[in-house]
Amino acid sequence: MAGLVVAIDGPSGSGKSSVSRGVARELGLRYLDTGAMYRAITWWMLREGVDVTDAAAVAARAGEPELVVGTDPDAPTIAVDGVDVSGPIRGPEVTGAVSAVSAVPVVRRRLVAMQRAIMDEACREGAGIVIEGRDIGTAVAPDATVKIFLTASPEERARRRAAELAGTTLEAQREALARRDRLDSTRAVNPLAKAEDAVELDTTGLTLDEVIAEVVRLTKERTS
Ligand code: C5P
Repeated sequence: MAGLVVAIDGPSGSGKSSVSRGVARELGLRYLDTGAMYRAITWWMLREGVDVTDAAAVAARAGEPELVVGTDPDAPTIAVDGVDVSGPIRGPEVTGAVSAVSAVPVVRRRLVAMQRAIMDEACREGAGIVIEGRDIGTAVAPDATVKIFLTASPEERARRRAAELAGTTLEAQREALARRDRLDSTRAVNPLAKAEDAVELDTTGLTLDEVIAEVVRLTKERTS
């Protein structure tokens, strides 16, 4: 599995994180959650009082926060300026602001470069890596060994998110996901998109184990 790169893209609630971690564990690969990196930069901007709707203001500060990302699928970690932000980046403030921050080209350039460096290091050290996000197959790792595009019906995605988060409703999640889909798919730089050579996998009605097994099967097929 040395040098193996598994790219997993898809919209929020399609099951990317659980599937990616499961595949990494099963195949003994590293794991990179690129969404957590966009969330961490967003957390920092909010803490600094930067107006996240002002792209120029976000761009001006984008190089400042120091990000450290762990790649162990059993214990993914993310720290900004030495502060562990794994919990806060999942909160509603960051979730509501992250699409605006991730649409800023300077932010994307910085994070894509970091993601490529982490991927190259994993390959150089003889480990493979599963990378999940929105633009992995199209922009971060166009030469990935396997590209998967996960989808699920809007109803199922909202149901999964509502089950994960306390104090929310199905309707609120349906609206939040539709808004994020729209922003992530229509931005000018590296929008959420299926790479031409990606395998599309609809996870509606499938169990997590079934989806992991299918991605593992597709990966082994490519590498045998
Ligand atoms: O996957 P997750 O929901 O944590 O991603 C949070 C946000 O980060 C997405 O809604 C999107 O705006 C941004 N993102 C991105 N490119 C990626 C991963 C995430 O723009 N590769």
